[in-house]
Amino acid sequence: MRKKLAAGNWKMNGLAVSLSEVEALIAAHPNPACDVLLCPPATLVSAMAATAAGRISVGGQDCHMELTGAHTGDISAQMLADAGASHVIVGHSERRADHGESDAMIRAKAEAARAQGLVAVICIGETEAERDAGTTLEVIGRQLFGSTPDAATGVNTVIAYEPVWAIGTGRTPTLEQIAEVHDFMRSELNGRFGSEGAQIRLLYGGSVKPSNAAEIFATSNVDGALVGGASLKAADFGAIIGAL
Ligand code: 13P
Repeated sequence: MRKKLAAGNWKMNGLAVSLSEVEALIAAHPNPACDVLLCPPATLVSAMAATAAGRISVGGQDCHMELTGAHTGDISAQMLADAGASHVIVGHSERRADHGESDAMIRAKAEAARAQGLVAVICIGETEAERDAGTTLEVIGRQLFGSTPDAATGVNTVIAYEPVWAIGTGRTPTLEQIAEVHDFMRSELNGRFGSEGAQIRLLYGGSVKPSNAAEIFATSNVDGALVGGASLKAADFGAIIGAL
């Protein structure tokens, strides 16, 4: 049985004052039925981990594939773990687009995360042009295989399906389209990892909000959500947690 996961990605938003939202969230949901993860910008990981005090999980939004070294501006999985993170998002479409990250790089980052005891939240998703061209499952299959390490398990890996065209747009796929991709990912993981594949949680991400969370969570093989904009406010993210 896979426990549901509500994950928030604050992206490049948030100052120290934003941590009051974390306090409010925890106060409103002291015993959530699902796992809760928040991924603030790197500058806030340490402070958020201190605020959360183990009551929710805290993650980074990216890590370097190497442990340490001459990589100005980068952050390693070891540094995130040291700051109190238990998870790290890798392969978000904004990083694939802004920083030219390939599936091979993302797999290496997920390996680095695992080596430091972090759970890798690996993001994949088709662009609108790819969906229009009818290649969604081909793209998802390629990204899923290429970005996921051979050592992936239900403990060290979460997969997030985030259609690029649904991120920050207010548009979402139909529930049938979400189910089609999630069922496909599940069958690909079962084929590659056997019974362990059935343990890997599959999140949906892209314009999840309080009003659509419940129906998305009730969709086949959806084990939770990776939430952007709606994770910044305790009231909205709390409502999404409540829908799980
Ligand atoms: P939105 O929820 O703002 O569409 O962002 C989704 C996302 O990219 C989460 O990683």
